[in-house]
Amino acid sequence: MRQPFDALIIGGGHNGLVAAAYLARAGLSVCVVERSEVVGGAAVSEQPWPGWRVSAASYVVSLLHPTIIADLDLPAHGYHAYLKNPSSFTATLDGPSLLLSRDREATEREIAAFSAADVRGYAELEATLCRLAGEISDSLLDEEPRFDRLSTEAQRVFLGSAADFVERYVETPILAAAVATDGIVGTFLGPRDAGTGYVLAHHYAGRALGPQGAWGYVRGGMGSISAALASVARTHGAVLRTAAEVTAITINAEGRACGVVLQDGEEIDAGVVLSNADPVTTFTRLLPPQALEPGFRERVAAWRCESPVMKVNLALGELPRFSCRPYGPDAGHYNATIHIADSIDYIQRAYTEAAAGLPSSEPMLEMFLQTPSDPSLAPPGKHLLSVFAQYYPYARKDGEWTAAARQAAADAILATIGRYAPNVPNAVEAVQIFTPVDLESRFGLPRGHIFHGELLPGQIFEDRFSVRTPVPGLYLCGSGTHPGGCVSGCPGWRGAHAVLKDWALLPRR
Ligand SMILES: Cc1cc2nc3c(=O)[nH]c(=O)nc-3n(C[C@H](O)[C@H](O)[C@H](O)COP(=O)(O)OP(=O)(O)OC[C@H]3O[C@@H](n4cnc5c(N)ncnc54)[C@H](O)[C@@H]3O)c2cc1C
Repeated sequence: MRQPFDALIIGGGHNGLVAAAYLARAGLSVCVVERSEVVGGAAVSEQPWPGWRVSAASYVVSLLHPTIIADLDLPAHGYHAYLKNPSSFTATLDGPSLLLSRDREATEREIAAFSAADVRGYAELEATLCRLAGEISDSLLDEEPRFDRLSTEAQRVFLGSAADFVERYVETPILAAAVATDGIVGTFLGPRDAGTGYVLAHHYAGRALGPQGAWGYVRGGMGSISAALASVARTHGAVLRTAAEVTAITINAEGRACGVVLQDGEEIDAGVVLSNADPVTTFTRLLPPQALEPGFRERVAAWRCESPVMKVNLALGELPRFSCRPYGPDAGHYNATIHIADSIDYIQRAYTEAAAGLPSSEPMLEMFLQTPSDPSLAPPGKHLLSVFAQYYPYARKDGEWTAAARQAAADAILATIGRYAPNVPNAVEAVQIFTPVDLESRFGLPRGHIFHGELLPGQIFEDRFSVRTPVPGLYLCGSGTHPGGCVSGCPGWRGAHAVLKDWALLPRR
């Protein structure tokens, strides 16, 4: 006779692991089944080349909830995050570049070189953004998040565009772009489009590093978060199975979810099923159509989920030498997010091409170098440049993402970097490329979408999928539920807590 579990979790992304850790800690027998060879989903460190440890997908942390870090004692399981400071560096081809940091005087000097008025404007912009994003922070673990509980000011800003909000405070194009990029990360819209105000604030909603909205690196790369969560879950007895793809959720005669079927035909029974897979996969691939009302199926079909993202990881023999900033291993700008986009118009232009179905000819790039602050990630003297690029439509108008198209896109990104840091093309020793299609096949991200679906009004708060699904006994615990994407653990926390709350009421096997 098969041994059933109390809870079965489909997917071992970081959210599935958070759910597993909380449920196992509460005394439930838990099994996680993950299709990949490793757990972590898009929060992984891998070794594509000997001597390198690469955060293949996500690379920086901010939203991981302090309650989760403390409850699960993640530092005791190897988690250590440290501040990314300076926070932002925008490289230029000619003219001065811009470096923003937590050193107030240094930042004021940088901004004053462009506009004296913007010194005050930027301070007000940051303070307002942190205040409004704080309202999101306070909702991250809400059982029933509601957009209309936010202040009128927050609602207005979140429904508007990132550009409108930022340009209310600052006039310098390079400064406005440095802030507004957070409004389009992972999003198939331009910064002048309505709703990107919310995406911007979402990226300021984290408190993992302490200060509101601060971002940081994780020692050992993002996989250290998943490794710590897996360790907690295992410590409490959870079983984590990899290379185990779920092909169907089993529904019993009463219409309750009661287990899963794996690709090799194995069946696993469970009292409840939680899905860390995205909503489209969960509701259309894993459930039979008759399990859901037509109205709900229409909602799933209308889910906005189109990735504009390419990720390219470059193993470099030396640090980039930006022609606009002095070179040197101690130069602060190597710790910052390095932006290639010197105005909001630059980003909007890049989007316009993608909206017509073509890769941006001048892409917006966000680049990260963790190796100066954590040399253990690369062989001595070498550096990893993580490049997050937009916009690259999942569905291209000019054809498929063939191997040649993939290489051409990566080459164009490298050429763009080379214009700002001429030594980079010749310093490349190895390349890892993820187009939107690769992000889907490698990480299971639907249509390559890094948040499992857009984080735009209409798909946030109560309009994201609820952790409690229409199928009794089936819960969501991934980014398709509030607060959505990023490495926050909150969907996993919310899924697990809904189960624990309902557990007393649930019929056991
Ligand atoms: C390129 C990139 C850069 C990013 N950068 C950042 C960043 O710097 N900081 C940040 O906070 N966020 C970042 N994000 C977003 C963030 O990584 C994701 O939103 C988050 O990791 C999603 O976590 P999750 O657990 O909800 O889902 P996922 O990580 O997608 O995990 C879902 C898991 O379910 C598994 N699965 C799916 N279907 C099945 C099935 N049928 N059977 C078994 N298993 C299944 C998948 O294999 C996967 O492991 C980035 C994402 C990408 C792709």
